[in-house]
Amino acid sequence: MNDWKDPELGMGRGITRRDFLNGVALTAGAAMLSSDLLAAADMHAAPEQSPGYYPPALTGLRGSHPGSFDAAHSLRDGTFWEQAGAPVDTGESYDLVVVGGGISGLSAAHFFRKVAGSSARVLVLENHDDFGGHAKRNEFSSPQRTLLGFGGTFSIESPAPYSAVAKGLIEELGIDVPSYPKYANRGLYRSFGLGPKVFFDKETFGADKLVINQLPRIGGESEDEQARARDLEIFLQEAPFSDAAKADYRRLVTDKKDYLPGLSSDEKKARLARMSYNSFLSDLVKVSPEVVKLFQAMPQGLFGVGFDAVAAQDAWGLGAPGFAGLNLDPAPGKGMNRDAIPNEEAEKYFFHFPDGNASIARLLVRQLIPQAIPGHSATDVVMARASYARLDEKNSPVRIRLNSTAVRVRHQGDPASARGVEIAYARRGKVYTVQAAHCILACWHVVIPYICEQLPDKQKQALSSAAKVPLLYTNVAIRNWKAFQKLGTNAIYTPGGYHSYMNLDLPVSIGGYECSQKPEEPIVIHMMKTPCKPGRSAREQHLLGRVELFTTTFETMERNIREQLARVLGPGGFDPANDITAITVNRWPHGYAYEYSSLWDKFWLEGGETPCEVARKPFGRIAIANADAGAYAYTDCAIDHAHRAVGEITKS
Ligand SMILES: Cc1cc2nc3c(=O)[nH]c(=O)nc-3n(C[C@H](O)[C@H](O)[C@H](O)COP(=O)(O)OP(=O)(O)OC[C@H]3O[C@@H](n4cnc5c(N)ncnc54)[C@H](O)[C@@H]3O)c2cc1C
Repeated sequence: MNDWKDPELGMGRGITRRDFLNGVALTAGAAMLSSDLLAAADMHAAPEQSPGYYPPALTGLRGSHPGSFDAAHSLRDGTFWEQAGAPVDTGESYDLVVVGGGISGLSAAHFFRKVAGSSARVLVLENHDDFGGHAKRNEFSSPQRTLLGFGGTFSIESPAPYSAVAKGLIEELGIDVPSYPKYANRGLYRSFGLGPKVFFDKETFGADKLVINQLPRIGGESEDEQARARDLEIFLQEAPFSDAAKADYRRLVTDKKDYLPGLSSDEKKARLARMSYNSFLSDLVKVSPEVVKLFQAMPQGLFGVGFDAVAAQDAWGLGAPGFAGLNLDPAPGKGMNRDAIPNEEAEKYFFHFPDGNASIARLLVRQLIPQAIPGHSATDVVMARASYARLDEKNSPVRIRLNSTAVRVRHQGDPASARGVEIAYARRGKVYTVQAAHCILACWHVVIPYICEQLPDKQKQALSSAAKVPLLYTNVAIRNWKAFQKLGTNAIYTPGGYHSYMNLDLPVSIGGYECSQKPEEPIVIHMMKTPCKPGRSAREQHLLGRVELFTTTFETMERNIREQLARVLGPGGFDPANDITAITVNRWPHGYAYEYSSLWDKFWLEGGETPCEVARKPFGRIAIANADAGAYAYTDCAIDHAHRAVGEITKS
């Protein structure tokens, strides 16, 4: 497959700032794992109390890091309780215990205190070593500067407008969304002559070649028609396509042919809802397989699958080519995925912090536990250093307990009349219990049937169907971006690559954080992969992809990353052995909430109660939040369902 040798790629090369933590040598190689940090802190009863405990600065395998899922997987496999010792009663009692420290869980704690008062006692249990869930902060520091990256949730954005509740919370946290242009240096890359490109790889297209990206921006902003026409000619000249594929591509993006003649707009939409975009391209437009392969990976960042598993109607909504002559009524068709329905108001509501929505999680934590994150504004939070030792203090009304997996949540007595709930959690090999008046499960829905056995079977089934979409969000810190400058690009689509997108960081300077302004300066490259298995149903692809992510070693991922960067950027002078200073792979086997599709979910097209409506029903003193509750992979969904869940437990 490749001619690169490990030393040329820089495999095994020590990345110096990772070699020491608090003066203690911990790692020999490039990656430092979370388990190393825990091991280093072993002498302490609570690892979070160790002065060196600072998860955002960890590199290597992050996201669902090693050690975070062992208890949950052992529960799933039915082996947990036979290995666990008898639970230890902590004697602690709370007004509310929240399971899951993501945006939904943190928002639930916030909304609950608004109703119950700020002295209400709340405990948040989170199985990872950091709070925020998918809203994860990655930090890279060197003697010259700190670089920030988003390990998950990229920005405040949603295909549909934020609800009053979600907008209200964003405003309450002090985030002034309309002020975003003030912080973003939108013209930076253009001022250096950089633009989007596509990398054709030899395994998929017969040659390694970087070419101007003329493809329509799927779900993106509309572009200047004149520039597109000019770029089309350059693209067709440069692309390593056969002559037939070039002619097909031109026909696809310029022709206005009706490929479904004789049908009404509604009838056409009904047909398009039931066929994949790849089938539309191959069977109706009849383009060559080379063109299909070029488009295939484009929607992966939205749906976690390629166009083999995305409905043609959704592709139309996202602006994919081929529909110009079909005269479709612009109103959304039945069964469209919400991601595919354009909405102008929603498009304007956008804000990107350098660490993504980790800033929202950090602002929520600051409201809940002011002593844990210094500062007062939504901008100064960007550089504020969280004090993890202060998250779980005895005298604080709100406590966040990391590295703690809820393993059993049950009413004390009959759910209809019980006065409380007992929550058992696993922490570093032991099981503990706490009592609470109420519990909100803001964790992933697939986990809930294993921890809350009292739930009705129908609800458990609905919860289990919310298996998430697997993804990798990889951040690579590099010494400079001169290779990108030489190659004239800042954003590369790599349809046949290990990751399918690689972008220079979105340049935002805010709250004392300065983004990289010159090609000579260090920067973070963001790369995105979804482990798809084209040709299967979306859910099967997600399942197999999840297994792939759990079973691939960091070493293999690192080699793939270095090789991919070398092949794409090598002609610009990029040397992976010298130019890479750190790699953080945010592995999300349980990533986006599963969104319904007209191709795979009959009820979505034909109507009726959706599984997420069944799954989120309250049960005695237990309510259910998380973005899974709305089957919608966005921050506003996580907030909205936290608000609903709090309403359910506080209404009486
Ligand atoms: C890679 C990625 C990028 C995204 N980008 C965007 C974006 O740009 N904009 C946007 O709006 N949305 C985005 N999303 C979606 C958004 O991040 C989510 O909708 C939102 O953050 C979900 O929050 P949550 O609290 O519902 O779930 P999560 O963030 O998943 O939090 C739930 C937490 O519960 C924990 N948990 C699970 N089981 C247990 C247990 N038994 N005990 C204790 N804890 C448990 C989990 O580990 C997790 O930390 C993205 C998602 C991903 C994965």
